Amino acid sequence: MSWSATERQRSFTICPTPLRSPQQPGALTLLWIIRNWNRRRILKSADTSEDAWRMAWSDLRLLRRLNDMEQQRLRELAALFIHEKSLEPVQGLLLTRRMKQTIALQACLPILNLGFDWIDHLVSVVVYPDTFVSEVTERDDVGVVHHYRQARSGESWERGPLVLSWADIEAGLGEDGYNVVLHEVAHRLDALDGAVNGKPPLHAGMRDLTWRDSLCAAFEDFTRRVRANEDTLIDPYAAESPAEFFAVFTEAFFETPHGVIAEYPAVYEQMAAFYRQDPSRQG
Ligand SMILES: [Zn+2]
Repeated sequence: MSWSATERQRSFTICPTPLRSPQQPGALTLLWIIRNWNRRRILKSADTSEDAWRMAWSDLRLLRRLNDMEQQRLRELAALFIHEKSLEPVQGLLLTRRMKQTIALQACLPILNLGFDWIDHLVSVVVYPDTFVSEVTERDDVGVVHHYRQARSGESWERGPLVLSWADIEAGLGEDGYNVVLHEVAHRLDALDGAVNGKPPLHAGMRDLTWRDSLCAAFEDFTRRVRANEDTLIDPYAAESPAEFFAVFTEAFFETPHGVIAEYPAVYEQMAAFYRQDPSRQG
């Protein structure tokens, strides 16, 4: 499939203020040791069997490429997610076990080979039944402050919750490059180095310069194509900013990896190195 420039309008937001201090996931501290001991204890009593997760798993075609070990690890991460994170339905939404599992499995897919520490800072997930309206305050280039209301399918706040629309989660269950959970988790990972700029903290062996060169060139080319109303394999919302580029390409990386490889192979290579996954290997 391809996206036309006007096919889908969607709105996400991210808190623009930097984190108080850069966070180093995996730092060996007493707190980290206690937390991991506690997590092992939780997993001993959690049901992470295939049967217990079968219904939610069957909804998520993008998980079919995972091998047995990866499937078990993802179920364990998702079980921790449901145990540690506060999943909060609002506006009368009834959040069933299957729905919680559906959210948790998608939220943990990006950290499958990174580890649960990478989403330690995420405390809660607010789930609306459908698209929700947010009050927006923005200052323009000449300093004038604008207030307006905007319909949204998801939001990510650095020291607050992920906010998600269940209708949009359901709409994103196919492998079409649209996945609001992956999108918002990508923003949280992006923010871990103190700036939401489309570059998460990179692993040892990855080079900042290579990341920037690969993604900046792709962002510039993609933006040009969207402005020219070209059809693209990736959602044109990625042209909004480098941060949105990273979040939208994260969706595409996991859901339509061959499209990313076809159009921006250097971006795919960098994202595969960051996420430590290769979704293109099957499907
Ligand atoms: Zn976004």
